[in-house]
Amino acid sequence: MLVGYLGAGLIAKAFAPRVGLGTLVTAALLLDIVFWLFVVLHIEDASVPGDFAARHMLAFDFPWTHSLLGALFLSAGAAFVWAWSGGEGRYVSAATAVIAATVLSHWAIDFLTHSAELTIWGPGAPSVGLDIGPTAALVVDLVLGGLGLALYLRRSRAPTGRRLVIAAMMLVAALLGVYGAHNTVPPASTMTLAFGSLLVLFACVVVAAVADRER
Ligand SMILES: [Zn+2]
Repeated sequence: MLVGYLGAGLIAKAFAPRVGLGTLVTAALLLDIVFWLFVVLHIEDASVPGDFAARHMLAFDFPWTHSLLGALFLSAGAAFVWAWSGGEGRYVSAATAVIAATVLSHWAIDFLTHSAELTIWGPGAPSVGLDIGPTAALVVDLVLGGLGLALYLRRSRAPTGRRLVIAAMMLVAALLGVYGAHNTVPPASTMTLAFGSLLVLFACVVVAAVADRER
């Protein structure tokens, strides 16, 4: 899903050009960043289901970060923290709305692609998820990623070198998506996966922030 989330962050940049890409990519990845931190802290969990070899998808137990209520909470929280820590000096603005929507876009993508494992308001609540399947999920991912990159390259005033860095990041994320859609080897352990995922997400945030910096 990575390239799809990143694509959402790049699309958001077109709506809030003055918000840094590092911030928008963090917003797009926020649910997963908090999720993998919660996995490390044993609050949430990911496991390898019996049909992993066929579907290439892990099973997730994430009633806090990926419940609709949790996503709304993180979305409002991210917009609040951004405004509070400087932002544009206002709590209600187009920029805070874009940040909130970008956080929620992650839930929308996961709602399309995950099986019915996203709860509405927390543990034990009814769960939703359209489960469009690995191939359709990859298509959604690549379309969002491609659209985001095209919009970004068209609008960004950054030097060519730094725009190429963003393009390279999207290419790597797309290749990871294609690999993931065919990979039949389950991860060695949940903790390895959690730390590896956090490292990848952190790298994306840093690359986006550095490539899109003002000077
Ligand atoms: Zn997610």
